[in-house]
Amino acid sequence: MKTLHIDVAVIGAGSAGLPAFRAAKAAGASVVLIEGGAYGTTCARVGCMPSKLLIAAAEAAHAARRTAPFGVHVDGAVRIDGREVMARVKGERDRFVGFVVESTEGIPAEERLIGYAHFIDDNVLQVGDHTRVHAKSVVIATGSSPFVPPMYQVLGDRAIVNDDVFAWDDLPRKVAVIGAGVIGLELGQALAWLGVDVTMLGARGRVGPLSDPAIKGYAQQVFSESFRFEPHAQVEAATREGDSVHLRYRDSAGELRDDTFDYVLVTAGRRPNVDRLGLHNTTLELDARGVPTFDPVTLQAGKHPVFIAGDANDVLPLLHEAADEGRAAGENAARFPDVKPLVRRAPISAVFTEPGIAMVGARHADLTDDSFVTGEVSFEDQGRSRVMLRNRGLMHVYVDKASRRFVGAEWIGPDAEHIAHLLSWALQMNLTVDAMLAMPFYHPVVEEGLRTALRNAAAQLPKA
Ligand SMILES: Cc1cc2nc3c(=O)[nH]c(=O)nc-3n(C[C@H](O)[C@H](O)[C@H](O)COP(=O)(O)OP(=O)(O)OC[C@H]3O[C@@H](n4cnc5c(N)ncnc54)[C@H](O)[C@@H]3O)c2cc1C
Repeated sequence: MKTLHIDVAVIGAGSAGLPAFRAAKAAGASVVLIEGGAYGTTCARVGCMPSKLLIAAAEAAHAARRTAPFGVHVDGAVRIDGREVMARVKGERDRFVGFVVESTEGIPAEERLIGYAHFIDDNVLQVGDHTRVHAKSVVIATGSSPFVPPMYQVLGDRAIVNDDVFAWDDLPRKVAVIGAGVIGLELGQALAWLGVDVTMLGARGRVGPLSDPAIKGYAQQVFSESFRFEPHAQVEAATREGDSVHLRYRDSAGELRDDTFDYVLVTAGRRPNVDRLGLHNTTLELDARGVPTFDPVTLQAGKHPVFIAGDANDVLPLLHEAADEGRAAGENAARFPDVKPLVRRAPISAVFTEPGIAMVGARHADLTDDSFVTGEVSFEDQGRSRVMLRNRGLMHVYVDKASRRFVGAEWIGPDAEHIAHLLSWALQMNLTVDAMLAMPFYHPVVEEGLRTALRNAAAQLPKA
């Protein structure tokens, strides 16, 4: 057994762990990066990148099917070759993964350990069966895994998660997607547009991350046009029948339905990877899920020299947040006990459906009643959106009554991912609605829709 004495041990070489490692090193610490699985990160291997590749293929198929209103006819049926679709998804994905692996393997071998790490006590980690690491500080950056409810676990290889989709060689015929969160919506719509017969069964009325009832209702309608969407379904039984799965469920109207699928794709949320960490061997205080309780501002677990970053802490399970948190955790771990707060950027998230969903700043559900006005725009008659026949969408922007500052937005609409950037930048700069309206808007662009929503909000406020 090898023994190592080190300033900082980073557990997990993902999107949080890699920047944590680099930040701790830059702060002058001796650091070791521990990875139990494959290098390459969740984002590149089975997350952000392959999902966007699948969506890109779906968008191509969708575009090819809807040329006729422009007077452009693609004569004959649009043919989707599932094998070619998956070959491109995997080929391009492997290219992205390759870059990450290369850069991770560029870290000197003596600063990397391969194997799963678990705590022996507060400052000692066992890595695989080969190394014992005595660390002054530890960064837990172990990511998250899909949660599969027990009723689907019995279905064997017919109950799949996002990782399995990106291992397919061909597209299946019929899939039930369990859960209408971000991953479910993205994969569900993409598969549907690629010709897979998709049924999406949500349980609690979720439509991605949306919390504004009006936007949620609109989005629900939009997705119902892409696939059978039951946001309030109750699955009563899931049974394996040969190579298929039989589901008995109550749909959103309470009607009992029976259907058979090739796969059940479970997108029912993700859970922090903490179960293999041996946290019970430490004096860290754990919450109900077994995650160390920690300060979301410093990422520090209690008073311990332990920091938790990325999906493992489940605060904002997004790539850019994982990277920012990793950097902050690495720096704090190296400088412990001189711990600094993490300065977060303005909240931004996007769902890569078409139309896209985006959220910026405060969620509608978290705003205090009467403290804000809501500016609205429908994209149905928005000039450029209509020109492009992408005129589906509804946007709400929230403006604080007292300060006139833009505080948040939720919407579904064309080019949402890009408009989300304008809005998050405005938010981070503390702009008022008046200052935002004083900015340039070109013509004709989808952003003119945003201007309409901002004008609508401003009109509800007393004259500036
Ligand atoms: C399908 C999908 C699509 C997504 N799309 C987007 C998107 O479009 N935009 C966006 O911002 N985010 C997206 N995300 C989220 C994003 O991928 C995550 O927020 C990000 O990957 C989290 O990084 P991380 O470092 O916390 O975890 P990871 O990258 O998963 O890294 C954790 C690492 O820790 C290792 N590990 C775990 N336990 C141990 C242990 N005990 N010992 C040693 N190593 C261990 C794991 O093997 C893993 O390599 C998506 C996620 C999914 C699943």
